[in-house]
Amino acid sequence: MGWLKDRLIRRRWTGLGSPRAQALGLTAAGVCDVCNASLSPTATYFLTTREVVVSEEYWVRALSTSVRMAQTFGLDGDRLTTVFEDQLRGMACQETPWAVCEECGPLFVFDRDAARTHAVEGTRPPGTGPVDPSECAPQAAAAWRRLTGS
Ligand SMILES: [Zn+2]
Repeated sequence: MGWLKDRLIRRRWTGLGSPRAQALGLTAAGVCDVCNASLSPTATYFLTTREVVVSEEYWVRALSTSVRMAQTFGLDGDRLTTVFEDQLRGMACQETPWAVCEECGPLFVFDRDAARTHAVEGTRPPGTGPVDPSECAPQAAAAWRRLTGS
């Protein structure tokens, strides 16, 4: 399952390559953590893990690829549950800010001015870091039901 898991759990990049971002350990890249679109510094938001994972709409996006792949590989029952739980934990444990593009912004509830400032300056929004998976399990489960009908 390791290879499958690697493919299911999307790699994330954060930071815009500013010296400050690098000093903070935020890697220099520049794609949206939600849709992988290229980011421009003036149209990027830094969100906390909590701001991201409490969004059911985000989970519909994040889980749709996993559900599609799981169905392609014929996973069901316990194995499907494992895919779900792994992704839930993987998202909830993110230590770094999430870089989000303008188009993905509406998926989330957050302070746009502050989030943009953090992205430009490469700083961490207050509250950045892992959340307990149980805090976002209901939203993720609701999204999973919408995607799988179960
Ligand atoms: Zn995006």
